[in-house]
Amino acid sequence: MRGLQAAVAAMAWCLAGMTALEAQSTMRPPAALNTQYVMLVIADGVRWQEVFTGADASLMGKAGGVSDTASLRRDFWRDTPPARRAALFPFLWGTMATQGQLFGDSAGGSPARITNTMKFSYPGYSETFTGFADPRIDSNDHPPNENTTVFEWLNRDAAFTGRVAAFATWNAFSRIFNAERSGVPVYDGWTRGVAPSESPRSSLLRDLYATTIRVWPDVAFDALMQQSLLEYLGGHDPRVLFVGYGEPDEWAHAGKYDLYLRSARNMDAYLAQLWARVQSDPRTRDKTTMIVSTDHGRGWGREWTDHGKDVAGAEFIWTAVIGPDTPARGVRANTPVRQAQVAATIAALLGRDWQKAEPKAAPPLPIFR
Ligand SMILES: [Zn+2]
Repeated sequence: MRGLQAAVAAMAWCLAGMTALEAQSTMRPPAALNTQYVMLVIADGVRWQEVFTGADASLMGKAGGVSDTASLRRDFWRDTPPARRAALFPFLWGTMATQGQLFGDSAGGSPARITNTMKFSYPGYSETFTGFADPRIDSNDHPPNENTTVFEWLNRDAAFTGRVAAFATWNAFSRIFNAERSGVPVYDGWTRGVAPSESPRSSLLRDLYATTIRVWPDVAFDALMQQSLLEYLGGHDPRVLFVGYGEPDEWAHAGKYDLYLRSARNMDAYLAQLWARVQSDPRTRDKTTMIVSTDHGRGWGREWTDHGKDVAGAEFIWTAVIGPDTPARGVRANTPVRQAQVAATIAALLGRDWQKAEPKAAPPLPIFR
């Protein structure tokens, strides 16, 4: 009991300390911003350990369910952490960390953490989209979100109405965004993955979604979703876009470290593809901010496959930002941040104050100069 009391006191102190630091480091966003488009990308369950130090040698064999260690080492093993992480996430390290900012270097004293105590997906996404943790959300089967997300709020703002959209492989996002109430079109899972269109590509994609083996009944493959998203972007010009990749979390739960790494590597390539597209279109070039993060962490060592209330370490995440209003400060030192700060960041980048509309929301990430 004494131990527990001490732990609770320490935690309260820690949270208070963090809020003070947060307040100190939260600068007001400049009055005039260049961002007109925001893209939020979440890679479900990708650990900060791999993001900051690359592949883990201890999991590249039997312990990680890997049979072909040689090819995995060839692709992802390098002698130093900076070389390893660049091999796994070339876009994150070659572009986002050099031209933008990266939060969550827990080993370097700059942790990014979730505020909710659940350490699994629905609570994490809801915290990300609303700016606060809602203790009522304690299951991935939670009904349509009672809370208004920053996406729904922006979709009601005349400047953004009809210019908000969400693509994801996990079929829970229709509930997390409360698609019905919010009016935000959510293309998720196996059966809602393709936006209505008569184009030949859309009909091919609908066939592939319908006929591909559903390894996970509730999560489609990221490769299909990427193509569906690209097809949508060919005919639409969303100003606020959510993209949710789900495979890394699924392969991790299955204990397949090779496929976890390969799906994380694919995610990085998808980011590069989206960013190249944004920067080659005069409508969006130098007017788009991309935020990339994860919904929760995972355990240490043998617990790498898991996350949840009782898994130590699964509260630590990471966040990367690139865009015309995010000075190139690279890996942010001594700057602890929270998952709850993403919602107000999205609004601030678009010249809106989410905390004014939702007083429970955390302040924006300290990305601005
Ligand atoms: Zn999971």
